[in-house]
Amino acid sequence: MHIEKEHLAQLGEHQPTIEIADADNIYLYNSKGEKFIDFIAGIAVNNLGHKHPSIISALKKQIDKNLHAMVFGEAIQKSQNDLASILCRHLPNELNNVYLVNSGSEAIEGTLKLARRYTGRKQILSFHNAYHGSTYGALSIMGSRKYQKGFEPLLPEVDLLKINDFEDLKMISNKTACVIIEPIQGEAGVIPAEMNYMKMLSKVCKEHGVLLAFDEVQTGMGRTGSLFSFEQYDVVPDILVLAKALGGGMPIGAFVSSKTIMDSFQTNPPLGHITTFGGHPVCCSAAIACLNELTSSDIVSTVSEKGELIKKLLIHPSIKEIRGVGLMLAIEFSSTEFTQKVIDNCLKNGLLTDWFLFAENCLRICPPLIITHQQIKDACNIILLSIDQAKETK
Ligand code: PMP
Repeated sequence: MHIEKEHLAQLGEHQPTIEIADADNIYLYNSKGEKFIDFIAGIAVNNLGHKHPSIISALKKQIDKNLHAMVFGEAIQKSQNDLASILCRHLPNELNNVYLVNSGSEAIEGTLKLARRYTGRKQILSFHNAYHGSTYGALSIMGSRKYQKGFEPLLPEVDLLKINDFEDLKMISNKTACVIIEPIQGEAGVIPAEMNYMKMLSKVCKEHGVLLAFDEVQTGMGRTGSLFSFEQYDVVPDILVLAKALGGGMPIGAFVSSKTIMDSFQTNPPLGHITTFGGHPVCCSAAIACLNELTSSDIVSTVSEKGELIKKLLIHPSIKEIRGVGLMLAIEFSSTEFTQKVIDNCLKNGLLTDWFLFAENCLRICPPLIITHQQIKDACNIILLSIDQAKETK
C-alpha cells in the first residue's frame, strides 16, 4: 500500500505500511478498518492499552479546566503537584522530589545536568549498547558509535562500561559524576543487569560518592512485573528517570531524586533546568490516572505470569532464544534478514511488532500489560505462523 507522506520528515528508506486511524484496547486499526494486535504498545508506552476509560475520562476533565498555564516551577499547578505527590508515595523515602519534563530524552538531559551540578564532577559513565534518547546529551551517552556519526563533537568526558562486567567497575572513581544504567537494556535487545552486578555497582558508586541513575523509561510503570524495575534489585537509585508509559499515552517524562540533590538546581545559579511545557497539566492528569490504575488493580501482578506464558507458547526450531523479564521480551533469530521477514509477515497476519536499534536480529515483544491470556495465545499463533512463512520463503 502506498501512503502519501511527502511533507512529513522521514528517517530512512523503510516504507511505512500501516496508517493508524484508530486504536482500542490492544488493537490498532488502519483507515480501511483492518485490525492489528499491538504487540509493542507504541514502544513501551501504552501499558494500559489504547483508549483506557480512566485515562480518557481524566483527560476530558482536565481539558475542561485548563491547558498550558505557566512554565514548570513558575507557579504551583495542581495536576503537577498531585502527580509528584502520588509518584513519591510509590517510591522509597530517598526519592522524594520530582522534576517533570516532556520526554525521556529531556529527563536524561536533566539527569546529566543534575549529576554534574550536584557532584561538581564531570565524568559520566554509561554502557555499551545503551539507549537514552536522541538529544545531544542523551546521544552523547549512547552506547553505539553508529548513530552518533555526523553529529560530533559530542559531550566530553563520557565513557562506556560493559554491563555485567565487574572488571569495568574500576572505571568508577571520585572523578565520576554519575553512572547511568538501564536496569534491563532495551535497545540492546533486552539484556538485564544481573542481581550481583547491580548490587556491586551500587556499592562502588556509594564508595566513590557517585550518583547512580536508573533509566527506567522502558522498564518503568509495571513493564517488568513490579511498578519499577529497581524494586526487583533491592537497590535504590539516586536518580530515577521515567517517561514513555508514565503519561498513559500522553507525552511526559520525569526525573526523580532526593530533595537535597534536586535543590542543587536552585543555586549557583538558580534555574538549573527550565522547561515551558514540562509537566503539561493535560499530560499530568493522564499520568495520575495511569498510575492510579496500575497501583489499584492487579495488572502489574499479572505481568510476570503473562511473560512466562509467552515464553512457553513461543517454541519453534527457528527461535534461538527468547529472553527478558515480565512483558519486556526479545526473540532472537539467526539473522537480521530472517527477523525482518518475520516482522513483515506478522504485519500481514495482523500483528505489529519490530526489532531493536542495537539488536536487529531480535523481534520485540512489549504488548500492553492489560493483554489477556486469550489475546496472548492469538498473538503467539500469529508469530509462529509468521516464522513458518519466513522459513518457506528462505
Ligand atoms: N531511555 C530509554 C531507555 C528509552 O528507551 C528511550 C526511548 N526509546 C529514551 C530514554 C528516550 O525517550 P524519548 O524518546 O521520550 O525521548
